[in-house]
Amino acid sequence: MMFCFRKFHTLLGDLVRNAWAAFVRSRNTTALGSATDLEEFLFGIERASLLNLRPFLFDLQEGRCFYCGRRVARNTGHIDHFVPWSKYPVDLGHNFVLADSACNSAKAQHIAAAEHLSNWARRNTTHAEALEKEFNRRQLTFGDPGDHRGPAVRGNKG
Ligand SMILES: [Zn+2]
Repeated sequence: MMFCFRKFHTLLGDLVRNAWAAFVRSRNTTALGSATDLEEFLFGIERASLLNLRPFLFDLQEGRCFYCGRRVARNTGHIDHFVPWSKYPVDLGHNFVLADSACNSAKAQHIAAAEHLSNWARRNTTHAEALEKEFNRRQLTFGDPGDHRGPAVRGNKG
């Protein structure tokens, strides 16, 4: 699957990205519950509390931006929704990465480039336990409770 993304990502463009966002969302129905419960997810978490995640993500990413790999100052990194909030309006731990301000604003409401997908999936698999622990500590949900690797990784290990 990742092979296909790489090979065709310029061709498929937004089509793939939108389909992929829908896929992620659909794989998360357990965590999301019914659509009517979305409100709780939407407004359940203060934006500011996400900043509490910064030191953890900073260490996890060895002080580098998730997207470009440039060094980020410990207190200036942005907590980015890997899948944009507008397309996936839930605060699940697997969706957070640390990014510098340039990449964060460049990405804005767009889905991250396909090349980042495999990095993201790998991170959520490799660091599943640490991630879940940290997010639980902050009373955030890492991902589908039945699958600690997060929904995007399931059946998508190419
Ligand atoms: Zn960057």
